[in-house]
Amino acid sequence: MSAVEKHQFQAEIQQLLDIVIHSLYTDKEIFVRELISNAADACEKLRFLQTSGQQTEQSEVPLGITVTTDDTAQTVTIVDTGLGMTHDELVQNLGTIAHSGSKAFLKQLAQKKAEGEDKKADATLIGQFGVGFYSAFMVARQVKVWTRSCQAGQPGWCWTSDGGGSYEIEQAEEQSRGTKVVVYLKPEDKDFSQSFRIESLIKRYSNFVSFPIALNGNTLNTVRAIWSRNKSEVKEEEYDEFYRYIGHDSEKPLLKLHFAADAPLAIQAVLFVPPRNLEEAGMARGDLEVHLYCKRVLIQSKAEGLFPEWLRFLKGVVDSEDLPLNISRETMQDSSLMQKLNKVLSSRFIKFLEEQTEKNQEVYDKFYAQFSRFLKEGIVTDFTHRDALAKLIRYETSALDKGKTTSLAEYVKRMGPDQKEIYYVLAPNRESAESSPYYEGMRAQKLEVLFFSDPWDEFVMDHLHEFEGKPLKSAEKAEIKIENPQSVSEEKLELPQAEDLAKWMKASLGEKVAEVRVSKRLVESPVLVVDSDRFMTTSMRRILKSMNKEPQEAKYDLEINPNHVVLARLNRVKEENPRLAVKVAEQLLDNARAAAGLLEDPRIMVHRMNELLADVMSSKV
Ligand code: ADP
Ligand code: MG
Repeated sequence: MSAVEKHQFQAEIQQLLDIVIHSLYTDKEIFVRELISNAADACEKLRFLQTSGQQTEQSEVPLGITVTTDDTAQTVTIVDTGLGMTHDELVQNLGTIAHSGSKAFLKQLAQKKAEGEDKKADATLIGQFGVGFYSAFMVARQVKVWTRSCQAGQPGWCWTSDGGGSYEIEQAEEQSRGTKVVVYLKPEDKDFSQSFRIESLIKRYSNFVSFPIALNGNTLNTVRAIWSRNKSEVKEEEYDEFYRYIGHDSEKPLLKLHFAADAPLAIQAVLFVPPRNLEEAGMARGDLEVHLYCKRVLIQSKAEGLFPEWLRFLKGVVDSEDLPLNISRETMQDSSLMQKLNKVLSSRFIKFLEEQTEKNQEVYDKFYAQFSRFLKEGIVTDFTHRDALAKLIRYETSALDKGKTTSLAEYVKRMGPDQKEIYYVLAPNRESAESSPYYEGMRAQKLEVLFFSDPWDEFVMDHLHEFEGKPLKSAEKAEIKIENPQSVSEEKLELPQAEDLAKWMKASLGEKVAEVRVSKRLVESPVLVVDSDRFMTTSMRRILKSMNKEPQEAKYDLEINPNHVVLARLNRVKEENPRLAVKVAEQLLDNARAAAGLLEDPRIMVHRMNELLADVMSSKV
């Protein structure tokens, strides 16, 4: 008899288990998928070691997974002949949280629990965060894991826990290479010990495991790599099932791309876009979940480097015959072959998206609603694909009704012969875009303007510079001149008067403005502010400020509308009542800053406004 060691779970695992056991009541069945997925991973890892020529224990034992149910004992047992675990690996893998993503998952679970929300989504997501093993405790009163590592001379071990704060480990000599997980079901979950129940779950979630799975003596799955089959032979349901398996998801994928290529590299791939963007849902940055195979042997799961960062939402499998089988995972990472694969795969995927914009617009719109931020991130970070990605972005525009979007290519087609630039304005919504002083000159000139609502769009444009040779320009920075401006009032200023007034305003406002000039584009608004830095707009400035990344105090140029009654009267009042005129000039500047969202502290403005109100009422109105 060897000694029984008692271990405490790491604090995070204790927390996780507490939630798994006490708060997750739906989708309990996913524990079957997770345990089988671990068994399959263990077999894949062993197969990789064997094909790369390493010695392993009991190499004659074939790789496979055996599931048995016992409805008398109320147990489910999952056995694999994979790589097993040493004592230290047991402690590491089943006692601590290794991945950063799992902490994020935990945080989210805890938050949902505190809010008392529906737990549905949580349980189904458990596998995506690398904590799938613990899902067994949703149904188990106790879990036992027998295991023996494939490394030479390692003893077998038995790990036991009831999901409380601790687990025990003792030696188990009779265990052969691989792992056996026994789930002792809680009385209320005893249904899972019925053969038909487990059978339907394996068929639903694990049909594509690339090792035979036997349930109570019968082999269940058809072991044939879906990606190496001919597209025309694979049914839609099979793709969905495959997605559910590799995506640890219970829904259908949003998009699917299955393709084969011979040159420049031999590739077979099945790629999926999941139905929703988890990063958007406030979760941590995800990892790319595309697995790299060579001739159906897993070389690397979650093959970092296979796609550019901005495509990290993809899930799927890439198989290339051109990979050397015995390459180590570390050297694979930055090999030139990996870079080539990356280039071919990402170009192919972008082309696929482009096809969707034409053939499958409704689905593309859904995709875009969830994942547009990734495309924009690609424009900013991935120079190679910048131009191709620019074709995929969509915006609302003054040329189309609210809710409809345009591509940049369509915008260019609509441009008149004299228009040289593509214009945009950033505003929180369509209504404020349409009433923006930056837009009014464009509207008067019948120029199309894109309406941005995502604060990042201006930065995206900054990286793009131009589209099909047309510079992309913020309406704020556009040099627009309205021919025959219509005055909205009787009172207006001739140009020399207006220029005098501008000079006077600059002198009165002093350091508060960089420049005051007569506007050629204002129609209804009396004034507007423009960032005096040529490469900056007021809205970009606002974002930088909100991120505390604003390096120095901004300077603004003030444009004044010579056809506006306020300016016409100001010109008169500056002689008659200079004290009042200065107050009005200051107020106009603050109004313009407020309209641009740049007035952070309104106290001075409010104080002045009150003085002006008093002034108004003291005179004969
Ligand atoms: P993930 O599978 O995403 O890594 P899990 O919580 O499912 O997260 O499993 C944690 C770890 O425990 C695995 O990464 C693996 O190292 C180990 N493990 C679990 N099941 C097995 C098994 N059947 N054979 C070998 N190792 C296993
Ligand atoms: Mg797992």
